[in-house]
Amino acid sequence: MTITAKVIVNLALDRAFDYLVPEALREDLCIGSRVNVPFGHGSRDATVIAIEQTAGPVDHLKSIGCILPFGSIPPKLLALGRFLADYYCCSFEQAVKALLPGAVRRGKIKEKSEISYFAPDRAKAEAFLLANQGKKNAAKRCEILKFMLPGGEFSQGLLAAVTGATPGILKTLLKDGLVAVEEHTVRRNPFRDENITPSQPLEPSPEQAAALRQIDDMLEGREKRRTMLLFGVTNSGKTEVYLQAIAKAMDKGLDAIVLVPEISLTPQTVRRFRARFGDLVSVLHSRLTDGERFDEFLRITRGEVRIAVGARSALFAPFAHLGLIIVDEEHDGSYKQSESPRYHARDVAVMRGQLESAVVILGSGTPSAESMLNAMQNRYVLAAMPTPINQVLPPVVRVVDLRLEKPEEGHTSYFSKLLVDAVQERIEKGEQSIIFLNRKGYSTSLRCTNPECKYIAKCPDCSVPYTYSRLRKSLSCHLCGGLAGAPERCPECGAELRCGGAGTERLESMAMKIFSDARVGRMDSDNMRRACDYEKILERFRRGDLDLLIGTQMIAKGLHFPNVTLVGIVNADRALDLPDFRAAERTFQLITQVAGRAGRGDVRGEVIIQTFAPDNDAIRCAAENNYQEFRDFDFEFRKALEYPPFGRLILVHFRSPEERCCMEFAESFKQALLPCCHENIKLTGPKIAAIPVIDGKYRCNLMIRGKDLKQVRLRLRELVLHMPHPRNVEFYADVDAQQLL
Ligand code: ADP
Ligand code: ZN
Repeated sequence: MTITAKVIVNLALDRAFDYLVPEALREDLCIGSRVNVPFGHGSRDATVIAIEQTAGPVDHLKSIGCILPFGSIPPKLLALGRFLADYYCCSFEQAVKALLPGAVRRGKIKEKSEISYFAPDRAKAEAFLLANQGKKNAAKRCEILKFMLPGGEFSQGLLAAVTGATPGILKTLLKDGLVAVEEHTVRRNPFRDENITPSQPLEPSPEQAAALRQIDDMLEGREKRRTMLLFGVTNSGKTEVYLQAIAKAMDKGLDAIVLVPEISLTPQTVRRFRARFGDLVSVLHSRLTDGERFDEFLRITRGEVRIAVGARSALFAPFAHLGLIIVDEEHDGSYKQSESPRYHARDVAVMRGQLESAVVILGSGTPSAESMLNAMQNRYVLAAMPTPINQVLPPVVRVVDLRLEKPEEGHTSYFSKLLVDAVQERIEKGEQSIIFLNRKGYSTSLRCTNPECKYIAKCPDCSVPYTYSRLRKSLSCHLCGGLAGAPERCPECGAELRCGGAGTERLESMAMKIFSDARVGRMDSDNMRRACDYEKILERFRRGDLDLLIGTQMIAKGLHFPNVTLVGIVNADRALDLPDFRAAERTFQLITQVAGRAGRGDVRGEVIIQTFAPDNDAIRCAAENNYQEFRDFDFEFRKALEYPPFGRLILVHFRSPEERCCMEFAESFKQALLPCCHENIKLTGPKIAAIPVIDGKYRCNLMIRGKDLKQVRLRLRELVLHMPHPRNVEFYADVDAQQLL
C-alpha cells in the first residue's frame, strides 16, 4: 500500500498536487504539516491538506522532501482556511498564508540560543584554587572560578563584564574541565524592560455579574448559542468582564484570543491583560521583530501561552484548546482586511468559534448593524451594560449649528464661540480638552484665488485634490500616498493660492493663536511616524503637560484620561456626505466614541458637537446618546433598500490603466456571472467607482446584492480565480464589502 499526500504550494493556483510520502516521514506527517517538495526545476514550501492510501500506479509521483520544523497548522485551523477561501472568494493558498505569520512561514528564523558557563566540579575547582594561590599566571582563572563557585550559570558577556574573562581564558578553563558550557534556547521577550503591577479581579457590578453568568452558561453548555453580543457603553466595565471571562475559561483548561482594533492605539487596554495574566499573555502587534513574533508563535504552539491579544491576525493563533474568542469594539472598520483574503475578523471569529466549539464575545458600545440584528433575532445571546461605572453623571452634550456662526464676530466654522469659551474655561481651571477632526494636514485643498483660473492642486494619479501641509511645504495624496512640493503661487496664472478646508495641522495653528497661553499638542499619522511618538505625546498629555490635544480618529480609541473634561468635535458631518450606506452608522459611532473620552474623572464632562446638519438623525441621536433610536432609523432605511444586514452584498472591483479595458472586461465578467443569478439577485453595474482613479488606475465595480448569495459566490469564485483576462486588468471580489468607494 502506498501513502500519498495532497499539498498546496505557496503559489496562488488554487490547486492541490499529489506527492508520495516516503517511509521515513510516515510517522510524523499529518494534515496541516508544512513540508518542502520538489516542484518544477526547484523546490517549494507547501502545506499538506490530505493524506491518502493508494493502490493505483504512483510511478509518476515525486516524493515529499522533508517536514519543516515549525508551523504545522492544526486541522481545525486548516478547515477555517478552507472556509476563508470559499467564502471570501480567494485561493486556498492565499487563505492558508493568512493562517501563519510570515516570520514562521518563510522559515528563515530559528530559535535563539545562548551558551552559558558553569563550574561542573566544585572539588576540582577548589583544588585548583588552592594549588594556584598567588601564582600570577593563574590569577585571572582563579578570579573567574571564585566568582562562579557559589553556583549558577553565566553568559560570556556577564563573565567578561564582572571578571574580565576573555574567550581565550574561558577556552583554557574549558579544556582543563574546570568549567563547562551548556547551550539553551532563550526567548526573545518583547516585554523584557516593562514592569507591570499585577491586578486582581474587581467585585463585579450587578450588570457585569449578569453578563458573566450568561458567559458561564455558554462555557458550560447550558446555553446552546455560542456567540454573545456584549452591548456595553464606554466605561461600563467591558474589559473587566473580558478579564473575568478569560479566567473562567482558563479554569476549565481553555485558551483565549482577544482581538482589539489597531493594537498600537490601545496600549492601556493591552496592559490590563498583562497585569492580570502576566506571561501567560502573548501580545501580537505590528512592532514585534520577526524573531519575537516567531518566539511568541512557538510559545502558543507549545501551550506556554494561554491568551493571545492582538489585531486581526491574532485570530489565527494556533491554540490547541481554544475556548473563548473576544472581539473588542466589534463594530470597528479595521477588522476588515483590505488585501486578499479580504476577511472580516469579527465574522471569521464567529466561524472559528463554531469550528472549535468556542464561545465568542463581541463587545461594543455602538454595535454594528450586523451584530445587533443577530442579537435581536436571538441568534446571539445579548448582554447589556448601559450604566457607566464610577461616572457620576453622563457628559453634557451641546450641538452647535455652524450655519449660525457669525464670521464677523471672529468665529469660524472650525472654532465656534461656544467651543472657544469652553476650551478657555478648561485652561483656566487646569483641566484638559480634546479636539477631534477627522482629517490631517494643513488644508484639504490648495486652490487659486483667481476666479477665472479655477486651478486646484490635484494628485495626477488619483481623482482627488491634494492635502496641503504647511509645515512640510508639501502636497500629499491621501489615497496613493503620493507627494509633491507645494507651489508658492498658482502654477497656471501666477495668482495667490488659497487653502480650502482645514486639517488637524491648521487647527493646531489656529488653536495656538486663539489660546495663546495654552500648551497645545497634535496627534495624527503625519506627526506620529513611529509608535514611540505616540506613546510620548500621550505620556505628556497624561502628566498634564498639555492643555489641549488635537487629533484625528487616532485619539478616539481606547484612551482613558481622567482630567479630560471637554471634547470638541470640529465637524461631525465629515463622513456623512460619502456615497455609502454605512455613512450614518460611522458618523454615529465616531461621535459616540469620541464623546466617550469626556468626563471619566469625578468632574462632569462636556461634549461640543459642531455641525452644519444638526437635524441629521445620526448626529441628533449621537448627541442624545440614543443608540436604539439611531438603530431603528438606520434599520428602516437599510431594510427598505435591502442593504446589509437585510441582504448580502459583494462588490467586484476592476482596475486598469486603460479606462476602456476596465469597463469592457467588467461587462464581460458580468455576462459570465449572469446565468447563475436568479431573479432575487440584484446585479448592478459595471459602474465607474466613486473615486474613479487611484494610483493611475481606472476603477469600476459590479455590485451583487441579495438575500442568499451562496450559489452566486461559487460561480463568482471560479471566475475571480480562473477567468481569462487582459493582462492590464486586475480584479477581485470583496465579499461583505465595508468600503463602497
Ligand atoms: P469599558 O471597557 O467598558 O470601557 P472598563 O472595563 O475599562 O470599561 O471599566 C472602566 C473603569 O471602571 C476602569 O477604570 C475599571 O478599572 C473600572 N471598573 C470596571 N469594573 C469595575 C468594578 N466591578 N468595580 C470597580 N471598578 C470597575
Ligand atoms: Zn494619489
